[in-house]
Amino acid sequence: MNSPALDLLQSVFGYSSFRGQQQAVVEHLGEGGDALVLMPTGGGKSLCYQIPALIRQGTGIVVSPLIALMQDQVDALREAGVAAAYLNSSLGADDQREVERRLSAGELDLLYVAPERLLTGRFLNLLERAEVALFAIDEAHCVSQWGHDFRPEYRELSVLHERFPQVPRIALTATADPRTREEIVERLALADARQFVSSFDRPNIRYRVMLKHNPRTQLMQFLDGHRSEAGIVYALSRKKVDDTAAWLAEAGIEALPYHAGLDAATRAKNQQRFLREDGVVMVATVAFGMGIDKPDVRFVAHLDLPRSIEGYYQETGRAGRDGLPAEAWMIYGLSDVVTMSQMIAQSESADERKRVERQKLESLLAYAEATGCRRQLLLGTFGESYPGPCGHCDNCIEPPKTWDATVPAQKALSGVYRSGQRFGSGHVIDILRGEETERVRSFGHHQLSTFGVGAELDEKQWRSVFRQLLAAGLLEADAEGYGTLRLTAASRAVLSGGQTVRLREDARPVRAGRRRRDSQAIVGGSLGIEAWEQPLWDALRTLRTQLARQHGVPPYVVFHDATLLAMLRALPANEDELATISGVGEAKLKRYGRDFLAVINAAQ
Ligand code: ADP
Ligand code: ZN
Repeated sequence: MNSPALDLLQSVFGYSSFRGQQQAVVEHLGEGGDALVLMPTGGGKSLCYQIPALIRQGTGIVVSPLIALMQDQVDALREAGVAAAYLNSSLGADDQREVERRLSAGELDLLYVAPERLLTGRFLNLLERAEVALFAIDEAHCVSQWGHDFRPEYRELSVLHERFPQVPRIALTATADPRTREEIVERLALADARQFVSSFDRPNIRYRVMLKHNPRTQLMQFLDGHRSEAGIVYALSRKKVDDTAAWLAEAGIEALPYHAGLDAATRAKNQQRFLREDGVVMVATVAFGMGIDKPDVRFVAHLDLPRSIEGYYQETGRAGRDGLPAEAWMIYGLSDVVTMSQMIAQSESADERKRVERQKLESLLAYAEATGCRRQLLLGTFGESYPGPCGHCDNCIEPPKTWDATVPAQKALSGVYRSGQRFGSGHVIDILRGEETERVRSFGHHQLSTFGVGAELDEKQWRSVFRQLLAAGLLEADAEGYGTLRLTAASRAVLSGGQTVRLREDARPVRAGRRRRDSQAIVGGSLGIEAWEQPLWDALRTLRTQLARQHGVPPYVVFHDATLLAMLRALPANEDELATISGVGEAKLKRYGRDFLAVINAAQ
């Protein structure tokens, strides 16, 4: 016999079974309990409160910090036949009153509210008189002042517990670290809430890190494997975002820029196109992405090192929310490591915070330089032990070679030391390699004992050594930003011969200027669509876009890629068969079934 929760999952959302902890959370809330849910991006947090809100009497109130995205969430629910609405500053006075009326009249299943709106005396009074099924606090890590998404209003949400003690509350976040979790429990008064902690593994994401040598060629080669797929390319500076987006657009790729320096209208327009059109590449600073729940982002590329490993995991987590194959790709090089090392040195925060920042940066560099399974390392930094190796990251697929670099490391460190710890890697490499440059002569460095002791490695190999010594904290860059290097407390053990150093052998760069053009890389893409399937796949996507336009919603609100892919493979012949496809609920079957069946039948 089916439970009401399972019935709703199938009839409203069109999914056959619950995922992971969803069912346990839904039941706990259904019984009136409080919950704290930690699930990775794409894990399926929304259903954890949407289904209980449908089961329980009254309206589910969802607090969400991102008003720009409420509308899409509400549209998606309406498409599925759920009575949903939102209240935020984007609504006119009349629309607002109408939503309030529907709330009071008990006509709404779900109401999304911005925190500042929720906290007004007027709205709280309104809630007192309405029937509330539950409170869902989305992106609950916004209470944490340590995180970069801190929202002061979130701290006042404990008022919900005080004023509505009998209404169950559920807080949700994709931020894994224990410190944030404690802060959520404390700030939102959730000490008695049951915690549901999922694995943070994202098995469908493949992780790849490459050495930066010719960023544009490398990016283009990467994008060749992801043609007409949606993705995000992250870069550090606004200028680099603008330049890269313009250059990609010139090369015929649908690329748009996004950063805080663009005016609000352009930002909104670009975000809207990314959400509503198929296959747009967003080139962005970290200003872009929070709360973007576009399910079919097929890749996230980092042209520069992210700020922390948590940031990296959040950014890459925006790929593949629909569970289909996706890729996280990053390039980095010596200059990135120097920049990071400088940031550590420059930090002016209080000691405790400084220590936290340093640890965060170090674990990021360790990730970039890792020789073992990247997934294992990532999950390890969130306190999760992954049995690994995963077999699905670059290091697992092609294990990097390592070499005993103890002697070169000693030479490098003493080269830095003997030249007075006042120079960057380029100059020290000249000394080691015995290059009598003008600069070397002018400082008399051709007379140093380390002059010419490192001729056995070429310049590129030396750069690799310096990069890895910096990443390992055996060297550090100056705080002033000149890129000069000096020894650290850890250097001594290496210099005295007490510590061996193993480094990774850098992979040979792919030759610049040659783009792979073999059909496999292009046709297959992330989803592995075969050439003979392509016409029907394109037809299904075109129909989806048309219907989405007619209904004024993003294409994925009509159906996800996963659902289209299932149609492509199962070729349903009638409505009964179509109804068995995951993602086809009753409302959508009625609304779109005939159109999709027509396209599928026409293809046979
Ligand atoms: P989160 O908020 O945790 O990032 P979402 O709630 O947006 O994740 O869900 C991620 C995707 O997975 C959505 O596209 C959603 O429709 C889908 N999904 C969630 N639960 C299920 C399920 N039980 N079966 C199939 N798909 C699901
Ligand atoms: Zn691996």
